[in-house]
Amino acid sequence: MSNFQEQINILVEVQGVELEIHQADRLVNALSNEAAALDQAVAEREAMVSSEKAALDGLRKAYRDLESEAKVNAEMVVKSNEKLRAVKTNKEYQSILKEIDEIRKKNSGIEDRMLEQLETIESAEASVKSKEAELAGFVQSYREKKEMFAAKEKRERQSVEALNEKKARISANADPQIFTVLDDVKKKVRGLAVVPVQQAICMGCHMNIPAQLFNELQRFDELRFCPHCHRIIYWKEQG
Ligand SMILES: [Zn+2]
Repeated sequence: MSNFQEQINILVEVQGVELEIHQADRLVNALSNEAAALDQAVAEREAMVSSEKAALDGLRKAYRDLESEAKVNAEMVVKSNEKLRAVKTNKEYQSILKEIDEIRKKNSGIEDRMLEQLETIESAEASVKSKEAELAGFVQSYREKKEMFAAKEKRERQSVEALNEKKARISANADPQIFTVLDDVKKKVRGLAVVPVQQAICMGCHMNIPAQLFNELQRFDELRFCPHCHRIIYWKEQG
């Protein structure tokens, strides 16, 4: 194997490792995106439950307001009944009776509303309770998923680290100049920068390589480029 062929092998190997690093990086990104989406889902569910709880508190407060209004009215009835005992005229007596009757009617309306409110409160309480249970289940599975994501992410990061070390190890044997050229080509092309030529076809752009260049390629004596896509090309027998 010529020394130059070794250099090409290094380039190809480094390219393969870089591809693996890229894939691992993408996986890390995808994992952290999924984790963020989970965080958001939990936050949304928590907000929903707390807004329902706030609405329930509002209902309870409205109920207490009705309750105190009814109490005030009941006290007024007691007072009016006391006044009844002290009245002198029939007209006054009738007027107080009318007053008492009105307050009682009002209170009866309030009591009806309180009963309705109680039913609403009970169903809201049941709904909050079931939503809280649902949330607890969701949070439980969320924690498990987060742990799983974190473990996967850690593994991927470690693998990126190992791959970077591998890349450095392989690159150490390469001619630095060849990497300068590689970096140049990488800036110009999408995807792979070093591609094989098989049966005179560039595997980067799938165009035909001129016969002359194809013959030269097999000498493995210098870097050569595809005249169409400008990638670094090397000869590879049909495998
Ligand atoms: Zn090409």
